[in-house]
Amino acid sequence: MIDDKSYEDARKHIERRQSFLDGIDMEQYSPFVKGIKYHKGNISGGKFLMGVDSLPHFGRQSTIHVGNMAFEEFSPVEFYNSMVHHEGVHARQFYFNPSTIMDVGKFAIARVFKSQRKLVINRIKMEVEAYKNQMEHPSFSQCSFKRRKRIEQVLEYANNCHDEISRQIS
Ligand SMILES: [Zn+2]
Repeated sequence: MIDDKSYEDARKHIERRQSFLDGIDMEQYSPFVKGIKYHKGNISGGKFLMGVDSLPHFGRQSTIHVGNMAFEEFSPVEFYNSMVHHEGVHARQFYFNPSTIMDVGKFAIARVFKSQRKLVINRIKMEVEAYKNQMEHPSFSQCSFKRRKRIEQVLEYANNCHDEISRQIS
């Protein structure tokens, strides 16, 4: 878990955020995570509060990136639930299956380019796995109603994209 007090401290003091992130226990996902990096601005143009990047090599650990907004929007338990039980899952996925590393923005491209569809389907499956994993963890029930609703909506969107692209392939 994440200590509420150190999270609140990191929220208030920008200069302490990196050391707070360095102290996070990624639990069973630790072997797949190289480090967690703080960004003063937004990441991915503000689309995501956190994200994983890795290199497309089997057995390579990922870096998790955290934007400014994460500290503004997440309660301590929401931060923990997303960081460990969503981003941690991505780090593990990329470790074992690096061919699936791609920008989620390609979801849209799949509607245009057939060649991308299989790749996008695999990527969506990984997203669905990560969302389900964070929802099944006990900490999810402690997230705000708004946060839980948001995650449920994104999962539904991912499932719809999956079904739509599957139909296009078949
Ligand atoms: Zn994700």
